[in-house]
Amino acid sequence: MYDKIKQYFQDNNLPKFRIKQFEDLIFKQFVSSFDDMTTFSKDLREQLNENFNLYSLSLIETEKTKDTIKFMFETEDGDHIESVLMINGKRRTACVSSQIFCAMGCKFCATGAKPFKRNLTGEEIVEQVLFISKYLKKMDERVSNVVYMGMGEPFMNYDNVVESIKIFNDRDKFDIGARHIVVSTCGIIPKIKEFMNLNLQVRLAISLHAANDELRSSLMPVNNQYPLKDLIEVCDEFTKKTNKKVSYEYVLIKGVNDSEKDAKELVQLLEGKLVHVNLIAYNPHEFADFEKPAKSTIINFKNILENNKIESSVRRSMGDEISGACGQLAGKK
Ligand code: SAH
Ligand code: SF4
Repeated sequence: MYDKIKQYFQDNNLPKFRIKQFEDLIFKQFVSSFDDMTTFSKDLREQLNENFNLYSLSLIETEKTKDTIKFMFETEDGDHIESVLMINGKRRTACVSSQIFCAMGCKFCATGAKPFKRNLTGEEIVEQVLFISKYLKKMDERVSNVVYMGMGEPFMNYDNVVESIKIFNDRDKFDIGARHIVVSTCGIIPKIKEFMNLNLQVRLAISLHAANDELRSSLMPVNNQYPLKDLIEVCDEFTKKTNKKVSYEYVLIKGVNDSEKDAKELVQLLEGKLVHVNLIAYNPHEFADFEKPAKSTIINFKNILENNKIESSVRRSMGDEISGACGQLAGKK
């Protein structure tokens, strides 16, 4: 509702400093309701209450483990979306959703198993981080990083995602540095190009998961439209233009893409490039029949990359205890 309320202030000739106050109340104080806006007159609060809902999402549930907290929201039209807060050292990372389910149909992904519903609005994306910030404020902490790795494919909702990035980055709003924001995509090439030309300094992660077209297309239908060679080419361009490493995410699935041959193929694909590979053990869920590999397989895979000077890390699928890990949010009613 943020933009509409701002407009209302302007239409009613309220002084400019009221808008600044309003922004502070939302983006610094994280107020819950118009009634909490005690810097405003009672009359103004009443007017706002009558005309607007302050937020379009309502927080309906949080589920906490040691270092992850899953937030479940209800949209105004009654759908449910999820975000995850990950606590890691000093980092407080908000993993946000960009769509209600996803149309890309990747075979291993719980989000993709349900029929795509709709894009989230910019406001709905921003509000996920607002609610998480509000939660952290109680402990005198703030969101330090945002990753677009929740439900949905961010580059299929390009305009709203970019709108939200600008708000996260805005000094007067969340003030989260562009380098602390990561957009993860299954590889929508034209949008990667458009994004790169915005020069936002935001980081890019690519869901790769296979190093040859045949395997990748069988796991990720998007590869039929945007095959590997073209994808890697545009990522190289991204690195050249922004001076930033691209992260490649590689979910290791037992017996599917986790063999030594697969690792060597990945080496061939990425050799000599300024990249980082994030290895993630497949997180089993009810919508697919895959299994996660043994620890030794993961270590072996990583060693092959390291021996060939490809920087990599093994990412714990954060939040797997609460089935709230990034990329596996399927929503529940
Ligand atoms: N649509 C975007 C962002 C959301 S998915 C994308 O695909 O990049 C975030 C990450 O979680 C992606 O790398 C995705 O491939 C991964 N993922 C999906 N399902 C998973 C599973 N079952 N186990 C582990 N990672 C998974
Ligand atoms: Fe969509 Fe990403 Fe899941 Fe693929 S991995 S179905 S692009 S959310």
